[in-house]
Amino acid sequence: MNIFIMGAPGSGKGTFSSRIKEEFNLNHISTGDIFRENIANETELGLQAKSYTEKGLLVPDEITNNMVKEYLSHLADKKNGYLLDGYPRTLDQAKAFEEMTKGTDLAVEKIVVMDVPFDELTRRITGRRLCKKCGAIFNIYSKPPKTEGVCDECGSALTQRKDDNEESLKVRLDEYAKNTEPVIAYYEEKGMVSRIDASKAIDAIWPELKETLKNK
Ligand SMILES: [Zn+2]
Repeated sequence: MNIFIMGAPGSGKGTFSSRIKEEFNLNHISTGDIFRENIANETELGLQAKSYTEKGLLVPDEITNNMVKEYLSHLADKKNGYLLDGYPRTLDQAKAFEEMTKGTDLAVEKIVVMDVPFDELTRRITGRRLCKKCGAIFNIYSKPPKTEGVCDECGSALTQRKDDNEESLKVRLDEYAKNTEPVIAYYEEKGMVSRIDASKAIDAIWPELKETLKNK
């Protein structure tokens, strides 16, 4: 089973990716990892990508598409398929990937979309507080520390990540709406999308998600 998982920042994509990967024995790959690996190993595609990022430019879709395809076709352990996170980011990438993998065992079969309403995403992201010392994570709305600003575990001061504010989140959500939502609509027309209500608690979502993936 080959899956793309999509969702806005704060939708819980990362948490569910690890669970899906384990349950269905899939290769879980994020495009960020593929990029880092290609650049670190100085592959041809990696060097091309680097020449753009060094200038602060976006890497062209063609390079990204080829990197993803290369990576997937060389997976030593094919397991039961792949779960790809962070790709495709644009409609052009989605169409190119489809063209490249048509009729092969790399073609994507299912798109899982983690749906969370905007105001819930805002609470999840802007309410997040971290303890730098022990790594504990709190949320002032859903999991507040016993004493405001203080870690329950080790008593250190809690901090907020620089990007976890409303303005940064808005930029990221706008980008998601502009680029990723058309991709979802594209697959929806093909009847490949399973939308999961990810506004509930993780343990309430997981059984539903598992069932959805079993009934392909
Ligand atoms: Zn702590």
